[in-house]
This record gives sequence, structure tokens and C-alpha cells, in this order.
Amino acid sequence: MILDGIEIAEKIGNSIENKIADLKVFGIPSLACVVSSSDKSTRVYLNSIKRNCEKFGINYAEIPVNGENIFSEIEKLNTDRNVHGIMIMHPVPKDIDEFKVLSAVSPEKDVEGRTPENLGMLLMGKPYFTPCTAQAVLEMLKYYEIPLSGKEVTIVGRSTTVGKPLSLLLLSEDATVTVCHSKTRNLVDKVKRADVFIAAVGKPKMFDATWFKDGEIVIDVGINVVDGKIVGDVDFDSVSKKFSVSKVPGGVGNVTAAILMRNVVNAAEMVCRR
Ligand code: NAP
Repeated sequence: MILDGIEIAEKIGNSIENKIADLKVFGIPSLACVVSSSDKSTRVYLNSIKRNCEKFGINYAEIPVNGENIFSEIEKLNTDRNVHGIMIMHPVPKDIDEFKVLSAVSPEKDVEGRTPENLGMLLMGKPYFTPCTAQAVLEMLKYYEIPLSGKEVTIVGRSTTVGKPLSLLLLSEDATVTVCHSKTRNLVDKVKRADVFIAAVGKPKMFDATWFKDGEIVIDVGINVVDGKIVGDVDFDSVSKKFSVSKVPGGVGNVTAAILMRNVVNAAEMVCRR
């Protein structure tokens, strides 16, 4: 089975369209991206968010910052009733502590689920906004009715945006979760014993079919550009012949993008209905 993210993204998109129509009398959902870097990959990512916003009729704005003014700009966005979602593009300006920046964002507008408050809520089992990619993996597993309760899940990657929050979401589903990283020993054993495997490393085609046991479900979060083409952390060609695996592109990334839009609409709904 090929796990397709486009189908799931479309389903999320339909629910967003209905909500936006309901919200019309109150206002238009609005996303502001705080941007301090002009590198190519940031630009590509911003353009795709902008396109998605346009598709759904969500207002989109970029707020350029260059140093300490990042805090005053975030404060303005926090108090602006017409801004419902705030995204902080990575990396933040040199010499500025990213933790302090994320801490400055209002948790109610933190549509990426990156503030300490929202990550804390997730830890306490009361998620508000969760990191979109971690949420996307969970929704993909649920969409394809892959059982999680009592199952062994191995995640490779422990970032605050993917691996760590995903481990908490999966624990809430009663999975037994192993989180691996660059210092993990005997990685092959940990990958092979899993019922569900999730790659979030950032190394093109690192995992081929020899890594997995019969029946293992493979979810590929990785997005890598090789010779101008997007490839995952999993060697799709060899793995898809024997295992159920998610596509890259057309997999988790599409669901992530749709969840970000849904979060903006949900944030707007909370303000508008108050
Ligand atoms: P990250 O912050 O760079 O984290 C990478 C993780 O992989 C780290 O925990 C690192 O271990 C681990 N790692 C690196 N080399 C390893 C190795 N040889 N063996 C085992 N573990 C290793 O990356 P990220 O932001 O989580 O992103 C991971 C991938 O997902 C990237 O390809 C990124 O582009 C992609 N991504 C996709 C989406 C989406 O929507 N699909 C969203 C976000 C990110 P240490 O902690 O020990 O360094």
C-alpha cells in the first residue's frame, strides 16, 4: 500500500473551506510569517505557504525583521485582532535566542505549536496547537487505520518540531515508542523490531528495504533535494516493492501544509466567536 498524503490534505481542505464560509460574517482568517532570512529554501517554503493561503482565501502577510525588532514585531502581531496565526521562520536572526523568540508568541496564535506553552500542553496530554508535521504523521496513520495501541513504533529523529512531539502523540495512542538519533547504537535492530517506522532525519534515501521486517509500515517525513528533485529519507523504489510506505513528495508534507491552514482557521474561529 502506498500512503498518499494528497488525499488526506484534500479532505482537510474541504473541512477548511466549510469553516471559512461559516466565518465570513466575522472576518477572514489571517496568517503572518515573521521572516529574518532571505535564503533560497526559506523563500521556497514561504511561497508554498502563500499559495496555500491564496487557495483557501486566507490573508497572508510577511513581516521582515532584522535583529532585536523581532520582539516588537511579534508583540504587534500578538495584539492585532486581525492576525490569527503567527509563524516564526527558522532561522531567526544571528545572536537572537530562538527559544526567547518562540516564547514571545501568543500561544493562541501559535499555529505551528512551537511555543513552550503549547509543547507543555502536549506533554500534559491536553494538546492545543501541536507541531503540524507530528500531527500530520498521526493523522496519516489514523486515516489508513493503522493500529497503534500496544504496537512498537520507532522514530529516527528527535527534533522539537517532529520526533519529540510525535513520540508524545503516539504515546497518547498507547503505542510503545522508541526515539533514535545520531548517537543511537544498533539502529538497525531498533528499526527492524518496529511495527511502524518513522524516518525524520534529513538524509536522502538512508533507509532501503533491508532495514525492515515483514509487514512493517514505513512513514517518511524526510524532505531532501537531490539533483533538483525532492526525495525522502526512505529509498521509495526499493521499499515500496515490499512494504506499505508513504510517498515523498505527496505524503506527510502535503498533510502538514493542510494542517497549518486548518490551524489558522481554528485560531480565527476562536477569536471571531468570542
Ligand atoms: P533536524 O532538526 O535536523 O533533526 C534530525 C534528526 O535526525 C536529529 O535528531 C539527528 O540526531 C537525527 N540524525 C541525523 N543523522 C542521523 C543518523 N545518521 N542516524 C540516526 N539519526 C540521525 O531535522 P527535522 O527538522 O526534524 O527534519 C527532519 C527531516 O524531515 C528533514 O528532511 C526535513 O526537511 C523534514 N521535514 C519534513 C516536514 C514535512 O512536512 N514533511 C516538516 C519538517 C521537516 P541528533 O539529535 O543526535 O543530532
